[in-house]
Amino acid sequence: MVAEDKWIGSPKPDGIKGNHTKIPTGLKVRDLIDMEGGIWRHSYIKQIFEKIDADRILSMHISRRFPPDKYIWIHSKSGLFTVKSAYYWIKAREDQNHLPIASSSDQNTAWKQMWNLRVIPKVKHFLWRTCTESLPTKSGLLRRGLQIDPICELCGETIESTTHLFLECRSTLPVWYLSTLRLDLHGQQFGSFKNFLWTMLQCQPIEYIEMLGIIAWRIWLARNKWCMEKKRFDVMKIINEAQRMTLEMYHTRQPPRKDAKERKRPQWIPPPPGTLKVNTDVAVFHDGTVGYGFVIRDNAGAVSLAGARREQKQGSSTILEGIAMLFAIEKALEAGFTGFQVESDSKCLIEGLQGKRKPEATWNVILEDVTQYANMAQCTNFIYVNREANQLAHALAHFPKDVDVNLVWCNEVPSSIEGLRIDDRTQRERNRETVEKMKLLGWWLMLVGTLRLASVWFGFFDIWALRVAAHPLYGCCCSGIHINRSKVNMCRVISSIE
Ligand SMILES: [Zn+2]
Repeated sequence: MVAEDKWIGSPKPDGIKGNHTKIPTGLKVRDLIDMEGGIWRHSYIKQIFEKIDADRILSMHISRRFPPDKYIWIHSKSGLFTVKSAYYWIKAREDQNHLPIASSSDQNTAWKQMWNLRVIPKVKHFLWRTCTESLPTKSGLLRRGLQIDPICELCGETIESTTHLFLECRSTLPVWYLSTLRLDLHGQQFGSFKNFLWTMLQCQPIEYIEMLGIIAWRIWLARNKWCMEKKRFDVMKIINEAQRMTLEMYHTRQPPRKDAKERKRPQWIPPPPGTLKVNTDVAVFHDGTVGYGFVIRDNAGAVSLAGARREQKQGSSTILEGIAMLFAIEKALEAGFTGFQVESDSKCLIEGLQGKRKPEATWNVILEDVTQYANMAQCTNFIYVNREANQLAHALAHFPKDVDVNLVWCNEVPSSIEGLRIDDRTQRERNRETVEKMKLLGWWLMLVGTLRLASVWFGFFDIWALRVAAHPLYGCCCSGIHINRSKVNMCRVISSIE
């Protein structure tokens, strides 16, 4: 049921937030879907829902397989109810409602955990400043003796402290709630941001805390823009920015490097002769839209097919990577390609497709969709690659950044991308050229060195010749000619060096 059930959004679905009045009673979700095309009924949805809900609905992925609906328990990865997950969920709720009393050893662990977060140093530093109450909020500045109006500029209701700004202000609370964290802080009492963070560190996975840190940081930046430049405090923009940053972070995150062999830059490896390889990738842009890119290449690295598309979509990075893969396989099938290898830099998705990882309930549907398409295309070979070996697909995913496109290119990639020369194979050739150039430089240096050495010897000869000319003991009838000739030789050598 559209109005009653919690069915919008992923990974933690929620109900309708806006006005219900235009929604017909008894309306079901299937009434919002064009069953033939397997897409949302855009205009109908925009007609009966408020924008906030319409955007959330339209950004949800619909499986064209139309699998039967099922309930999932969102507090466990598998989507199945377990007593353990229920216990942790209840505990987390209780912890959110009561102030934790952290011992000093707990505090040390919490600080350690905070500094070990895999976010950019700026975010960690910001979290540290927030926890130690050293951010220049209004109350912070007042404490330092500045004569300012201490009222929160976002809500205009009370004094702006760190706690108010992040945990109580009615302007910032929707950011937490509408983000993928689904954090409802209304009526919660944490006392301070530090207590809040410590509580979350105890009951939430590390990825959750990283997202939390990034969101808090984006709230602070947006607050500064509003206070200093009067730039609108845009909740969805903050969420989109945080999501984009998280995705970028996840992309650049590398496993710790162990030895020189591993440190070698990974490169695109061509498929076996006579076969094709598909590389896919995804990008999230500033306005919250998502770009998908793919490229199909043969053994020689020549492009057979490439594509890029942009759309409004929300979901975890694994879901988005899955949609990029669906896009690629669908276009490859349309062009008549089958039996190709599929390569992506999403470890979760690839391991799920390889059967090495149990899919989480939130991305199981997309995994099944990809599997079905892959079966149709007779491809069973899924490979995980590092981002560096997936550069062309990465550039194609970023291609629709400024233009709303849904394009496919045959036997080429867009000229702007060709201009970047980031084809992984070209990169290899460039490396080879550099080695050749270095060799030539080596020979040139050796030649110059030899000539210089020769010139020094000629110098010695010159001195000897002078001595012969000046000293009768060395008596030589043609010493004068010797001198002249050696000088001529020296001049020749010098000019050749220059
Ligand atoms: Zn406020």
